[in-house]
Amino acid sequence: MNVLSVASEVYPLVKTGGLADVVGALPSALQPHGIRTRTLVPGYPAVLHKLKKRKTVGGIDNLFGHPAKVLAAEYDGLDLLVLDQPALYHRDGGPYLDTTGRDYPDNFRRFAALSLAAAEIAGDDVVPGWKPEIVHVHDWQAALTPVYMRFGSARDLPTVLTIHNIAFQGQFGASVFPELSLPSEAFSMQFLEYYGDVGFLKGGLQTASAITTVSPSYSQEILTAEFGMGLDGLLASRLASLAGIVNGIDVDTWNPETDPYIAQNYGPGTLKKRAANRKVLEERFGLDKTPGPIFCVISRLTWQKGMDLLAQVTDDIVALGGKLIVLGAGDVALEGALMAAASRHRGHIGMVPGYDEPLSHLMQAGSDAILIPSRFEPCGLTQLYGLRYGCVPIVARTGGLTDTVIDANEAALAARVATGFQFHPVTADGLRLAIRRALRAYNEPKVWARLQNQGMKSDVSWAKSAERYASLYSGLLAKG
Ligand code: ADP
Repeated sequence: MNVLSVASEVYPLVKTGGLADVVGALPSALQPHGIRTRTLVPGYPAVLHKLKKRKTVGGIDNLFGHPAKVLAAEYDGLDLLVLDQPALYHRDGGPYLDTTGRDYPDNFRRFAALSLAAAEIAGDDVVPGWKPEIVHVHDWQAALTPVYMRFGSARDLPTVLTIHNIAFQGQFGASVFPELSLPSEAFSMQFLEYYGDVGFLKGGLQTASAITTVSPSYSQEILTAEFGMGLDGLLASRLASLAGIVNGIDVDTWNPETDPYIAQNYGPGTLKKRAANRKVLEERFGLDKTPGPIFCVISRLTWQKGMDLLAQVTDDIVALGGKLIVLGAGDVALEGALMAAASRHRGHIGMVPGYDEPLSHLMQAGSDAILIPSRFEPCGLTQLYGLRYGCVPIVARTGGLTDTVIDANEAALAARVATGFQFHPVTADGLRLAIRRALRAYNEPKVWARLQNQGMKSDVSWAKSAERYASLYSGLLAKG
């Protein structure tokens, strides 16, 4: 089966968050099911720079006023199609934001173009000799694909839209509609029209054959007003087509036994070796070399991720004898609050602002626990990396965090199935309490080792979830 996957980022070429990890890892997990995935991404400079061996396999004469090329390349096991259109994608900043951190003003056009190109690849002879049988699109940036397909020549091809985070919807003023090359009927409730605006995700949710989101709990939560962000009603009307499939992780990239980014490799039987990674972290974050657990945070610094709650408990972590290291970028005020905590508690709290993939691996390999106090979390990946690395997750009870971490309550401890700590409500007090619980467990080395080992035994691979995507695709094909 041929699948066209469409996304605005893909690891290891371009990544701002979990979306890239998922889009990068799913194709190889689907391969054993006879599914060959080609992944279409925009030709950002970072992507083109890494793809030395690429060839032009197709073109679109007029993509919003400019010609575009479709390039093909293989990279790290991925079969890629790259939409090369310099006017849209050759920019100095990141995929979505300019160098000053502002959204590019033409993001609607940049990602409508990605979707339109995907629809043309699916339906027309843009890439001669290759056609998908399923089109799988990710998040709002690719969500107009099924809408363009509906009005183009691929109208009968099944589509899957995966929501990685419903907070990001691609909502733009109605004035952009005439620029989208869609018939006027598309600006209606059945398609894009969203409270008088244009909603990219909304249009995709209306038209995709199937909708998935990245954990069973989140698939339930987005049906409520609290988590649905205005789309709960629409989703309820599409309940029969909605599924929650939990993300896996790339267990080759994230393998403490072979990880090239960490100072000392180790496995389930050699957890003591983690100490060498701790040493490097102590140096890197300027921590005192005293005993006690190191809690880490690897996160976008946002309200969603509960980073304001973290800022409220920093003094408590230190008072309780713990240390905290933070790697993150995002909200300037939150970054400032965490930097201030680091200077208040030199030797006990360290902060590296920014984005650093290798350091994120080392932190999982040398810290004792990872804190994830998200207010909502569609799936979350850092807790899965934590489980795999023996870095015990302490998580808010929400979304995919609920589904992937087994709380160390008495029954779970007795049954030896616990893998971490959950807390609810998601408040500073809730987080504080969870940290206290974790400290108690940390002070009983046998209990802690059991948590680490149980976590490392958890199946965080893509195997089961790839099977679910494969059967979703087959079901859609069978429906015809
Ligand atoms: P989201 O996609 O909402 O940001 P996820 O937990 O799904 O959250 O995925 C986040 C991904 O980005 C993980 O791979 C995590 O390790 C990585 N990440 C987040 N912040 C940083 C950072 N500052 N430096 C390096 N990696 C980061």
